Amino acid sequence: MDKKPNILLIYTGGTIGMIKDYESGALKAFDFNNLVKSIPELSQLACNIDSVSFDKPLDSSNMNPGHWASIAELINENYTVYDGFVVLHGSDTMSYTGSALSFMLENLDKPVILTGSQLPIGDLRTDAKENLITSIQIAALQEKGKPVIREVGLYFEYKLYRANRTTKINAEHFQAFNSPNYPPLIESGVHLKVYNEYIQKPKSIRRLKVHTRLNTNVAILKIFPGLNESVLNSVLNIPNLRAIVLETYGAGNAPIEKWFLVCLRKAIDRGLHIVNVTQCSGGSVIMGQYETSRALAKMQVINGKDITTEAAITKLMYMLGSNISSKLFKTIFETSLRGEMK
Ligand code: ASP
Repeated sequence: MDKKPNILLIYTGGTIGMIKDYESGALKAFDFNNLVKSIPELSQLACNIDSVSFDKPLDSSNMNPGHWASIAELINENYTVYDGFVVLHGSDTMSYTGSALSFMLENLDKPVILTGSQLPIGDLRTDAKENLITSIQIAALQEKGKPVIREVGLYFEYKLYRANRTTKINAEHFQAFNSPNYPPLIESGVHLKVYNEYIQKPKSIRRLKVHTRLNTNVAILKIFPGLNESVLNSVLNIPNLRAIVLETYGAGNAPIEKWFLVCLRKAIDRGLHIVNVTQCSGGSVIMGQYETSRALAKMQVINGKDITTEAAITKLMYMLGSNISSKLFKTIFETSLRGEMK
């Protein structure tokens, strides 16, 4: 009997499968079959690999929640047949997709590994082959017949991270991602080094539940010295806006000028959910540590702790889509649902 794990590759687009248009010089997505042809090494892996491709592969800048839903549905439809999933995706919005999928796939107990590359697969110096081959190996990794990874991961340049902890940090280095507040789950060297203590273990064996209803009436506002009342008010009064990620300074600090606090207070009274996330690339919001965050804590601004902006905005879309009651919203947001915050 063939006991090799079955892996499904889902090709959504991105540089990994792009070619150069010789007339314009621009990179454009190409047919997935060429990707498999480009890596004959895939046949040496100890797993069965099937693939499915988006009809129109996308540059990930064109991804939206509808595409996230398509990926989630593909995983759902194939969940019982496959032991692991590898999603090939452009790096630009990969952290958003990875974060969104982590919330959309409730009770996930199989690996979903997102990967891509900085250089196209056909390029002589490409990083695509290593990223793809190791991602498949990780998706196929099992211990006592159970997958080692049972969450949504992002593999890039020798490291597997929890996807909802990642952020894209560099537009040209092969090491394009970082996970500022959570250690890697696996490091790839001569051997795959698995850090079991950091891997999410499903709390109970429940059926996979896929949530595809997301609410996009959300916004991100990064504060800056000079932000004026009219700009702040315009954002907070966007029609139908339900929630906002407020990127603050340092450990969650913001001006204590009266007009600023009054604008926020009024928005919260109207029912807007405001999440305090730091605009620093690492570390955590600590509400109340400074005078400049005490006022926010007092007016019931939600504490985003050490969550990334990518995870915060997708968590908001997911929670609003799930019609969480306003009363419970703050408590649930401040609770780690998929290991996305401490
Ligand atoms: N623009 C590309 C994308 O995100 C970049 C990449 O694939 O890394 O689709």
